[in-house]
Amino acid sequence: MPTAREIRLKSRPSGFPARDNFEFASVELGDPGPGEVQVRNLWMSVDPYMRGRMNDAKSYIPSFELGKVMEGGAVGEVVASNAEGLKAGDLVSSMLGWRDLYNAPAAGVRKLDAVAGLPPQAFLGVAGMPGLTAYAGLTRIAGLKDGDIVFVSGAAGAVGSLACQIAKAKGHEVIGSAGGPEKVAFLKEIGCDGAIDYQAEPDLTAALAKAAPRGIDVYFDNVGGPHLEAALAVARPFGRFALCGSISTYNPDRPSPGVRNLMFAVGKQLRLQGFIIFSHWDLMPEFLAALSGWVAEGKVTWRETVVEGLDKAPDAFLGLFKGENLGKMLVRLG
Ligand code: NDP
Repeated sequence: MPTAREIRLKSRPSGFPARDNFEFASVELGDPGPGEVQVRNLWMSVDPYMRGRMNDAKSYIPSFELGKVMEGGAVGEVVASNAEGLKAGDLVSSMLGWRDLYNAPAAGVRKLDAVAGLPPQAFLGVAGMPGLTAYAGLTRIAGLKDGDIVFVSGAAGAVGSLACQIAKAKGHEVIGSAGGPEKVAFLKEIGCDGAIDYQAEPDLTAALAKAAPRGIDVYFDNVGGPHLEAALAVARPFGRFALCGSISTYNPDRPSPGVRNLMFAVGKQLRLQGFIIFSHWDLMPEFLAALSGWVAEGKVTWRETVVEGLDKAPDAFLGLFKGENLGKMLVRLG
């Protein structure tokens, strides 16, 4: 009987999570039952939103349960099938990450769409949830229109690096912000007109005003906190903010200080709109069609930071909050 290894939530973190919050377990799997497949995961995703799921708090997605295997995006290969339409060797995506092997009903997995030039793990990054988040945030939430000057925070990460490149592909002036010289060099490489190393800037508002002397029209917020304040200060009238995430506020064990200059939203008649990508999955076909064109034209590229093996999955996850990734953080299991 095959044995699966899985990672469970052992305890809920207070403040910055640690390896101790996770535990490893082995479970014996039988053969797949009627209508089920057995899948060996090749790749799993770690994502910042999982930090919220470690808390015992009501949110848009259920909390991870203590003592139970965690969940998240994964790409794997069917190794045995007892389901119509799926056969051994098929590549599938699922939300059954944080484990190396599983049995699941066929409805719990999705055969991978083929997009020319993209490897399977791209469906956890550039061609998956993070890529779609960048696309939906810019096009549907911010309502990107000709002439907009775009500011993206967390710009060297999975979502941010796509947001920068999509805005560039659509002909916009783009300013990105990320931590450290290596990431700033990457932002220039992917075409950003301005690149801010926020860790080296004592005054982020001054740095943004310098990088965007005419102001900004669209802010794609991945970070919150001082980045949001800087964007409010530098926004032009009728600017639109896509509030995608607020990673600077995920770990502190007490509420972060409020945004001190929100009044700018009134005077400048700004629109700030939060969004959760699950509500915008209908855009996936449109996004994948646009993406394959941009990739073929060389307008969009992607980076991965790959951590090897299930044992290292908690470290990969923790690394997201220490800026250890350039592009999409992935764990290779296969
Ligand atoms: P990233 O690939 O961007 O990885 C996280 C990055 O965040 C790190 O590399 C680090 O980059 C940066 N970071 C970590 N801590 C801080 C901090 N205290 N201040 C500033 N930057 C920090 O992750 P994703 O692309 O997957 O996610 C980006 C954002 O989008 C997150 O806020 C996430 O929650 C959100 N998101 C929202 C979705 C939605 O549906 N609304 C869907 C998917 C993601 P650096 O070295 O530059 O600091």
